[in-house]
Amino acid sequence: MADPLETIIGLFTEHGAREYLGEPVSQLEHALQAARLAVEEDASDPLVVAALLHDIGHLLDDRAAGAGDRGVDERHEDKGDRFLSQYFDNDVTEPIRLHVSAKRYLCAVDNVYLTRLSPASIRSLELQGGPMHRAEVVAFASLPHVDAAVALRLWDDQAKQPGRGVPGLEEYIPYLQRVMMRTIAKR
Ligand code: FE
Repeated sequence: MADPLETIIGLFTEHGAREYLGEPVSQLEHALQAARLAVEEDASDPLVVAALLHDIGHLLDDRAAGAGDRGVDERHEDKGDRFLSQYFDNDVTEPIRLHVSAKRYLCAVDNVYLTRLSPASIRSLELQGGPMHRAEVVAFASLPHVDAAVALRLWDDQAKQPGRGVPGLEEYIPYLQRVMMRTIAKR
């Protein structure tokens, strides 16, 4: 198996310059801003890694570029979950798998949240199923890792500021290494 760290870094170097779905930042800038917000809030190592890698599903598939514009929900959260499950445990993969549901959840429980979403995020919300219905809200709120998923979602929404100076990818290599080593030790 190729070195996981190289594989992950390679995805960002190859595809990170792509635009982030109609937002004024690239995929790499978005990932770095999300990870930085997680660090600023003293998130755990796995959650910092989740913030950095939450949209890796967009980088895995060349056809994904511009999918939203074509009216397709390409389920990037599931792609990211499947890919990252090779290397990481649920404390990384579950917040990622749930980060789109967390948007639908927040739209249902927080009136202000919806009004603050970016236009591109509101467009994708429709493709993703719109705000959750009451039964979905109850089911979602009882899932393990729901708090982490909601925290990740809020960083995701803020990580769209053009020109925000944040540390680069190399800053997160020790995080990735620590979390991967722990996963290997457990498996
Ligand atoms: Fe995102």
